[in-house]
Amino acid sequence: MEYKNDNKFYFEIEKRIPGHLGRAGIIHTPHGDIKTPAFMCVGTHGEVRFVSMEELKSIHAQAMLSNGYHLRNISPEIAANGGLSAWSKWDGPTLTDSGGFQVMSLGSGCGKVVSMKREDNMKNTEEEKRLAHVTEDGVHFHDPFTGQEDFIGPEESMQIQCRIGADIHMAYDELTSLADTYEYNVESLARTERWAKRSLDEHKKHCDDLGYHQSLYGVIQGGRWEDLRRSTCKKYAQMDFDGYGLGGAFLKETLGDILTWCNEELPENKPRHLLGLSHPDDILIGTENGADTFDCVAPTREARHGRLYTMHGPINLSKYRDSDEIIDEGCDCPTCQSKITLGELRRLWKSQDRTESAKYFELASIHNLRFIIRLTEQARQAILDGTFKEFKESFLNSYYGNK
Ligand SMILES: [Zn+2]
Repeated sequence: MEYKNDNKFYFEIEKRIPGHLGRAGIIHTPHGDIKTPAFMCVGTHGEVRFVSMEELKSIHAQAMLSNGYHLRNISPEIAANGGLSAWSKWDGPTLTDSGGFQVMSLGSGCGKVVSMKREDNMKNTEEEKRLAHVTEDGVHFHDPFTGQEDFIGPEESMQIQCRIGADIHMAYDELTSLADTYEYNVESLARTERWAKRSLDEHKKHCDDLGYHQSLYGVIQGGRWEDLRRSTCKKYAQMDFDGYGLGGAFLKETLGDILTWCNEELPENKPRHLLGLSHPDDILIGTENGADTFDCVAPTREARHGRLYTMHGPINLSKYRDSDEIIDEGCDCPTCQSKITLGELRRLWKSQDRTESAKYFELASIHNLRFIIRLTEQARQAILDGTFKEFKESFLNSYYGNK
């Protein structure tokens, strides 16, 4: 098997945004290049729900992000089939998340991120109901489907990710929430730093097992505190990571500041992935302040809930009964190009027929994904043309202006 880029991972900066940390570049991986800024489509289980790999290629998706937690039990099968790109038939660059976010979310009900308490603090019944708890070793949790006890620490996460075999892996980290105190963040960051070193050590043992090189990003936490973010980034800059994941629960008002603190300290020649954000303003603020890649379930999840993106802001499909308009006149996605009307989309969405509702999920997911991918393409072109500031202003005016 021949791998691209001489089986190497490296980042090339093409052009910077004057006066800011943002840049356009190319991430070279063994399974191909990612031109940045770029949005990675989320295929948690190795596929994007309702969207085929051919459709992903047709909307110019460049990379897919899957999850170590969800794929952990079938990771040996993925390894036996040549790794994630070959096994999933995606045949392009891939990234996996460490699974830390998922197991810790179990501690407070799926998907909701609140403060995690350590084992020795678990006293009242409320705490005992948690499905997960954090110790120095890692995270103990109960599988929400089988009820079985399970454990993932940095070593397990690296072993799982190296069997899955994405081009880019995330180090195992503890995420903190907006509700966590400064003191808790200090304690958590120290543990995450120890986990980062353990991740690096374990990753080195397995990163070439599938015959191509798999890279590792360190994940930066530190909440909303400048001193914590900067000191963490200074330490991680000295560690042998191939790139960085920018993590945490962000408020829109402070996103730009936090990214600036981090990216002023991190080495410029390594790529940075902003974890879990994809609204247009997040992407443009992220890009301006030095984030290179993005991922989020929002475009497909919102599509399934009837929220469709347009140049003039998102629309709620439930209000478009019998409408003969299309979603977005300026959109080049296959859904809009087919001229299917909002009225027909709404009918498919509300249909009791499973084939019809699945068709809606497919058409709507394709549109929302393409909308965000096109935004990153336009942002990239604007950086290359030296017009990013004007592009950002005009896009945000159009998208959020009428609110
Ligand atoms: Zn469209």
